[in-house]
Amino acid sequence: MQLSDKDIERFWQKVDRSGGPEACWPWLASLTTEGYGQFGANGKILGAHRIALELRLGRPLVGLALHEPIVCHNRACCNGLHIREGTIQDNADDTVIDRTHCPHGHLYDERNTYVRKDNRARVCRECSRAWQRKWRQARSSGA
Ligand SMILES: [Zn+2]
Ligand SMILES: [Zn+2]
Repeated sequence: MQLSDKDIERFWQKVDRSGGPEACWPWLASLTTEGYGQFGANGKILGAHRIALELRLGRPLVGLALHEPIVCHNRACCNGLHIREGTIQDNADDTVIDRTHCPHGHLYDERNTYVRKDNRARVCRECSRAWQRKWRQARSSGA
């Protein structure tokens, strides 16, 4: 997305940057029903957080613009440092519900998978074993 200098100036006028460089920069203009800022330019409605990231990177995005989950819980935030570019794979994960692999790349086959009863989420046995090992180590070294 190519924005003119005028559009960029208009964009920053709608962002509250008063919290300083580390803070969330809330979008002050209209939001989507999902809570993302929206910005109109060139006859299109664009995601404000996406523009914020493109301006930080200085190039158009290939993947999605995703807020960093630990840093930022604010979808309206337009601090480019709180947003990262998702890979094309992330995009696919957003739409494909039936994943074949866990986030660490282990296959979700019958042997390696169990389904939690509370939220029906699939759990990778390999990963949960590794996690338990770490947890035990942390506990024994701390004692
Ligand atoms: Zn933020
Ligand atoms: Zn795994």
